[in-house]
Amino acid sequence: MDKDTIVQKFGGSSVANPERIKAVAERVIGYKNHKCDLVVVVSALGDTTDELIELSAQITDDPPKREMDMLMATGEQISCALLAMAIKSKGHDAISLTGAQVGIKTNRDHTRARIQKIETRRIRKALTKNQIVIVAGFQGVTHDDEITTLGRGGSDLTAVALSKALGACVCEIYTDVEGIYTTDPRIVKEARKIRQITFDEMLEMTSLGAQVMQSRSIEVARKYNIPLHVRSSFCEEDGTMIVKETDKMEEVVVRGVACNKQEAKITICAVPDKPGVAARIFTEISKAGVNVDTIVQNVSHTRLTDISFTVPKNSLTQALATTQTIAKKIGAGEVLHDKNIARVSIVGTGMRSHHGIAAKMFQALAENKINIEMITTSEISISCIIDQQSADMAVRTLHKTFKLEQV
Ligand code: ADP
Ligand code: ASP
Ligand code: MG
Repeated sequence: MDKDTIVQKFGGSSVANPERIKAVAERVIGYKNHKCDLVVVVSALGDTTDELIELSAQITDDPPKREMDMLMATGEQISCALLAMAIKSKGHDAISLTGAQVGIKTNRDHTRARIQKIETRRIRKALTKNQIVIVAGFQGVTHDDEITTLGRGGSDLTAVALSKALGACVCEIYTDVEGIYTTDPRIVKEARKIRQITFDEMLEMTSLGAQVMQSRSIEVARKYNIPLHVRSSFCEEDGTMIVKETDKMEEVVVRGVACNKQEAKITICAVPDKPGVAARIFTEISKAGVNVDTIVQNVSHTRLTDISFTVPKNSLTQALATTQTIAKKIGAGEVLHDKNIARVSIVGTGMRSHHGIAAKMFQALAENKINIEMITTSEISISCIIDQQSADMAVRTLHKTFKLEQV
């Protein structure tokens, strides 16, 4: 009978130094002794990726994306080789493979490439030889052999995609917290570990700023219904299961609070209020490859209106240049921007069937004198754009208002 395959992913903090790598090796060997096939995905050591990006910034302000991928992919190559050495030094057989060696084929969208196909031949061959396979996360290769990376946090995506390709029975994500919490435990010490969370809620949490997992990896897990177990590499406790449906899912109104400080707001003043203007503005911005999030257009009393929208901070320069050009073309006024904003959001499937949640959220912010600049909602979330200085206080207030420390 075929053995079960388990995919395990260890994040940067779990492999931050030689001691941690040796501890991960022990843990992996422990699983191997349970007689399953093991594929282990690793991130780069600690903050290596940030350090590599910082290095490139010392060379140029505008590094070519192809070369950024060549640079960033080296981080995971180091950790996968070291982990394979650590396992071998403990008397077990292992082999490290880069994304290209595995055959993780992607499109050519450097620094945020999409996986198109995963070859499994090389991994299966190694598993047949009873080797533990260590795969460098976050990277792939195009059909013409160019190295690509999968966007920040992309090792999560490598693990999920490999789980699908190999038909793994479990995909375990090992990190530095014990699972998914009601909010970032670094901001709120009363945050509680959630036992089970749905793909929909998790996708909403991550896309609204909870950096614990990469959003795209959750999208893929949801698409193929691959249950994920997020747990700590520092202890044996069970963590959080991310699944299609949870027990009593409609009863939990607010599952968590997320916060994103990585956005900026752009306002175009005095935009002529006539059909087709918004279409022109946002077509140009999307052509420039900038993702726009919340958009607010004020009511016009004078046939002129202000339009505000948010963009990721790292696209601000590009977005401003494009917006200034289009503002001139359409005869609008000044273009303003503000980097000092944050998005705070509440998320929960139960919001579909409960009302009064938005009012409760706005009231809680008002009581703390926090001004709401923009509001957006989805079926299972409500987000407010506020001043960045108030963000942590807003998260703590909302966590308390919705009694999340009691779940
Ligand atoms: P890794 O290096 O393992 O990929 P990350 O740093 O990407 O780990 O993600 C783990 C971090 O995510 C935690 O240290 C925690 O501070 C942060 N985080 C943010 N929101 C949450 C949340 N809701 N639950 C758990 N962790 C969260
Ligand atoms: N090392 C990459 C990053 O820091 C990928 C990952 O850790 O998942 O974004
Ligand atoms: Mg991560």
